[in-house]
Amino acid sequence: MKIKKGDTVEVISGNDKGMRGTVHIVYPKKKRVVVSGVHLIKKHQRRTGDVRTQVGIIEREAPIHISNVALVCPHCDRPTRVGYRVMPDGTKSRVCRKCGEIID
Ligand SMILES: [Zn+2]
Repeated sequence: MKIKKGDTVEVISGNDKGMRGTVHIVYPKKKRVVVSGVHLIKKHQRRTGDVRTQVGIIEREAPIHISNVALVCPHCDRPTRVGYRVMPDGTKSRVCRKCGEIID
């Protein structure tokens, strides 16, 4: 997965195009991510008997496919494709394809 929890991403297609948010859940098998404030869906929550449950229409974030988001580079602040560079110690780092800086 090129996108990790805590990354800032920008939506590049769909109704939420242009919105940015922080990734807070990653589903690697489904190739989906949940991004704060992005792809909100209205959900009708019924009374469950648990008084702590919020009842009525609640908004929550739904997972979005990773092909619909692009990582925002922390160096150039642009949505970018991700490349990889092998570091001298053998680990792979993600690299911004636009400015060439190492992302992490
Ligand atoms: Zn960059």
